[in-house]
Amino acid sequence: EHPDLETVELIVVDNNGLLRGKRVGPDRLVSVMSEGMRLPGSIFALDVTGENVTGTGLIWAVGDADHPVLPADGAVRPVPWASFPTAQVLMTMIDDDGTPFHADPRQTLCRVVEHYTEMGLTPVMALELEFYLLDKERGPDGRPQPPRSPHTGRREHAIQVYSLDDLDAFAELWRDISRAARAQDVPADTVVSEYAPGQYEFNLKHVADPVAAADHAVLLKRIIVETAWRHGVEASFMAKPYVELAGSGMHLHMSVLDEQGRNVFDGTGSKADELIAPTLAHAIGGLQKGMPESMAVFVPNVNSFRRLQPGSYAPLAPTWGIDNRTVALRVPSDGGLARRVEHRVAGADANPYLATAAVLAAAHRGITEEIEPSERIAGNAYEQVPPSLPTTWPEALAAYDRGEILPEYFGREHCSVFSACKHFERHKFEAIITDLEYRWYYGCI
Ligand code: GLU
Ligand code: MG
Ligand code: MG
Repeated sequence: EHPDLETVELIVVDNNGLLRGKRVGPDRLVSVMSEGMRLPGSIFALDVTGENVTGTGLIWAVGDADHPVLPADGAVRPVPWASFPTAQVLMTMIDDDGTPFHADPRQTLCRVVEHYTEMGLTPVMALELEFYLLDKERGPDGRPQPPRSPHTGRREHAIQVYSLDDLDAFAELWRDISRAARAQDVPADTVVSEYAPGQYEFNLKHVADPVAAADHAVLLKRIIVETAWRHGVEASFMAKPYVELAGSGMHLHMSVLDEQGRNVFDGTGSKADELIAPTLAHAIGGLQKGMPESMAVFVPNVNSFRRLQPGSYAPLAPTWGIDNRTVALRVPSDGGLARRVEHRVAGADANPYLATAAVLAAAHRGITEEIEPSERIAGNAYEQVPPSLPTTWPEALAAYDRGEILPEYFGREHCSVFSACKHFERHKFEAIITDLEYRWYYGCI
């Protein structure tokens, strides 16, 4: 109905969490909303540089066939950062027979949510996004550097978590991100300054629809990146841009409502352990069990694993505790509808659909099989529990390939596409001879 609409961007989200798609003319909007369009199935299995990944079964075996894509949530969103009227539609792929397309990670999440729906349960999710603001120009060492404050022109920041000064420095940016989020119906609630210079976090509101919660994270990441760029800075969700500074995580908060709208995670007693309902205890047990095989999803690339460091508030073992940020699964002290578990493993670079799906799959397994959690950890988990999660990429991929929970919930076809994408990427990194190797070994040995 917008008379000046110039273009419509149609978006799908690939297995790396990257947005891909097409722009079409405004005259196509009505037919796209009612009938959809077609895109190649391999769009979900390109590597980050856009190269076709081999071994996914999506390209050569099927001649890189097109499949139908339909509007994912029926919404037409404005694109507030565009310089002319632009609409945005999030799309999702189905097979020609109308069934969900196995390589589309959004469909994978829908499939996992079904397990809850069948039991009359509704998961409530909220994602938290940490990221760095960086200067558009690289530093003298060629690495990204913290941004200059638009107010003071200086690069130094208070380097203080929850610093209001650090927030003030980019007040107009936060305002424009919040405005854009409102325009797109994305409930981006809160922004805080994080532990490192230029590092911030946006929180999304809890919603009783996990697919919508992941949609919100996907859309908000784009809003942040695009709006930051127009404010003269770059936003990066790379998990560990600096070895010596905090990494960026994507925490997932989860609770579950029954048909009466009661939070089945909320316990009734007054002592710490009684606050945990048996269903929450079982969900935690399942989350612990599913964590090793899900690491490849939560921590999806060579850089992401660098974030898993002792004392970094990113976990190394599948621990849990109450109101404890050193564990993987934190149960905050809030009760009632706010009783929940915060899953702290995923890097900011994880695919929001797949990370949400991996959390829900493992929790569901725990709830249905009544898996008991380990002892809860009070105090510093890094000192009490040795690292036991796969904290290197090869180990994590091996655990993924041996996994039992994810193949069942995600479908083997999906898992084999994801695995092919990640092995392909890992081989590429392994095949590169780094500058450091030349410095150490060429002429020295
Ligand atoms: N930045 C930490 C991480 O990598 C989390 C810090 C926090 O608890 O906010 O997950
Ligand atoms: Mg944080
Ligand atoms: Mg958090």
